Amino acid sequence: MTITRDYYEVLSVERTADGGEVKRAYRRLAMKYHPDRNPGDPEAERLFKEAAEAYEVLSSPDRRRLYDQYGHEGLRSRPGHDFRSMHVEDIFSMFEDILGGFGGRTGRGRPQQRRGYDLETEVTVSMMEVLTGTECDVEIDRQDVCDTCGGSGARPGTTPETCTTCNGNGQVQQAGLGGMFRMVSACPTCRGRGTVVAERCDDCRGHGRATAHRSLLVRIPAGIGDGQAIRVTGEGEPPSPEVSPDGSGTPGDLHVVIRVQSDERFERDGDNLIVVEPVAFTQLAIGATVTIDTLDGRHELEIPAGTQTNELFRIAAAGLPNLRSGKRGDMVVIVRLVVPRKLTERQRALLGEYAETEDTPVNETSGSFWEKFKDVVTGGRSQDDKEQ
Ligand code: ZN
Repeated sequence: MTITRDYYEVLSVERTADGGEVKRAYRRLAMKYHPDRNPGDPEAERLFKEAAEAYEVLSSPDRRRLYDQYGHEGLRSRPGHDFRSMHVEDIFSMFEDILGGFGGRTGRGRPQQRRGYDLETEVTVSMMEVLTGTECDVEIDRQDVCDTCGGSGARPGTTPETCTTCNGNGQVQQAGLGGMFRMVSACPTCRGRGTVVAERCDDCRGHGRATAHRSLLVRIPAGIGDGQAIRVTGEGEPPSPEVSPDGSGTPGDLHVVIRVQSDERFERDGDNLIVVEPVAFTQLAIGATVTIDTLDGRHELEIPAGTQTNELFRIAAAGLPNLRSGKRGDMVVIVRLVVPRKLTERQRALLGEYAETEDTPVNETSGSFWEKFKDVVTGGRSQDDKEQ
């Protein structure tokens, strides 16, 4: 999962920057990293998309407030566009009002985008939900076809008229970069539609799209991993009003990125769960039965006499299910010796007595100890291995 940078940092603006500063900062970056000026440079494209994501959030008072208060976390319930999977041309046409005339390839030669934009949101699930699978309520706001005008942007009872700036073509020629070259771009008057509305629809102010709140039940399969995404087909946005006023065509998809909450009891390793079980010297020496908490119950684990610290035990099928096969992984138990920091008088006396009976020559095990230690330090690559 890629780390999302701080949006103010991305745009290099102060947290107090007003809308105009945010807009100028974004325009500057969009021009700098535009793929036309950085051909074949994936890093420039990434920075171009990152700037668009930051701008989308900081230019919306509502989403900016959530971001200021709660950071990226705060935006989980308010998905933005999935810029990483979008085409550069589509990002340009989205922000045409501020980028238009600065090299947007929105004119001739661009295939008509009749597919809507994808949206991305996140949900967090617990380890227990990874075990069982679950259903999550996902709340999203998206731009849908305005109910009042059916997407035309015209007040009900009126019809859009042919745009006189572009004569209905939806495109105009403009001089770019101080007249250095000419380019075709979307008509600034009708924004590519070819029509203008004389009387605007009150509900969408002529845009043809209105924010719609959607609540979806998304099934999360058992075994899902942190950072994996579930694609909900058709729950993105309808095609843009410029190419499809009534929203017909293929809607985008919604990507639900899954975050798995870490469980302080277990460490996850693929389908296996790892747990560290603290044990006493006496338990290791004479053997014991310890109760291990698993995700869905308890397991009595037999520790045989003479077990060493850090030895591993496996509880079969007590891990997480595999996303594809459903077969459960194991619970791996590491028994770890805990030496008491304080002893009672009696304990001290008993251990003293025990020590007198002890005749384990330390040197007997020290050879293998140093071997192990060397393995850790050299990563297991001893001289012998190299010769093989
Ligand atoms: Zn409307």
